[in-house]
This record gives sequence, structure tokens and C-alpha cells, in this order.
Amino acid sequence: MNIKLFKLIDEEDIKNKVKELAEKISSDYSDKELILIGILKGAFVFLSDLIRNLTIPCLCDFIKVSSYGKGTESSGIVKILSDISIDIKDKDILLVEDIVDTGLTLKYLIDHLSLKKPKSIKICALLDKKERHKIEIPIDYLGFTIPNKFVVGYGIDYDEKFRYLPYIGYIELEKS
Ligand code: 5GP
Repeated sequence: MNIKLFKLIDEEDIKNKVKELAEKISSDYSDKELILIGILKGAFVFLSDLIRNLTIPCLCDFIKVSSYGKGTESSGIVKILSDISIDIKDKDILLVEDIVDTGLTLKYLIDHLSLKKPKSIKICALLDKKERHKIEIPIDYLGFTIPNKFVVGYGIDYDEKFRYLPYIGYIELEKS
């Protein structure tokens, strides 16, 4: 199988968008106790750039969910591999996601985190495949709407590869 890689969003555009999102978040949460929760592994690069562009204090934690493995199609079944470790009761939570596809992961995580009684939960996603939604979850802070391509780079993988790319690309698999 040959993997062909194409560029979708370049470094500069990501940088500008992350700055823009961080400014909006900093202003909206200026009088709140913000906790960012990154969804691993895909959101680790996005979260680390986002947090360094915020101008307000905040806490940060991670939740790890099962990934696509070697495929490019979601099973729709979400499994928590590692939960958050800080207490979020009465706190304002911003869930940081790399890509919203069907929306099922976010729905599952919102239900899961709601049991811990935070004051609020909002969503920040870098990418949204709008046409693929099976469930409508409001995305409070969105980077880019993208077409239905399998994207990689900027922390996002295919079979653990391509996370190191500084830009967002997409891949096509060709039988050799
Ligand atoms: P959803 O539950 O919304 O269908 O899927 C969300 C998760 O699927 C994302 O967090 C991400 O891990 C994975 N995902 C969705 N689309 C892509 C994609 O194009 N590339 C990669 N690598 N993962 C994706």
C-alpha cells in the first residue's frame, strides 16, 4: 500500500488561527477558573500551542480515548483508556479536540465529564468535518471546517505516523 500525502492547511494559517482562538478564550474566561482538557493523543500539539497563547491562568489535564488504530474509519465505539486526574467539580471546562468527525467521541466525553459536576463544559476543536456529523454538538471555538479527507500532521496520526508534521495534510491510500 502506497501512502500519498497532500498539504491541506499550512503552518502559518494554523499559527494565526490558534492565536485568534486563544484571544477569544482568554477574553471569555477572564473571570473564570478555566481547566483545559486535551483529548489524547491527537490534541497534544494543538493544546500545547493554544495554552501558550492564552493570556489568563488555567489548569490543564488530559483524557485518553481509543483511536482509529490502523484504519481510517471510526468504529463509533469510544473507550476511555486514561481518565483525567484533577477535580473538575464546579470548574469551567474547555474540552480540546483535534477533529470532530461524527461527533460521537465528544458526546460520550461530555456525558462522562458531566458526571463529575463541572460548572460548565465547552468545546474547542481545531478541525471539523461538518458533513460527517451524526450528532450535533455545538463547537464553541472552531479552527477550520474541512472536507471529508483523512487528515494527519500537527499531532494527528495515521497508524502513529505523521504526528510530527508542522502542517495539516491529508493522505490517500493506493494499492501498489
Ligand atoms: P468522532 O467521534 O467525532 O467520529 O471522531 C473523532 C475522533 O476520530 C478524533 O478525535 C480523531 O481521533 C479521529 N478522527 C476523525 N477524523 C480523523 C482523520 O481524518 N484523521 C485522523 N487521524 N483521525 C481522525
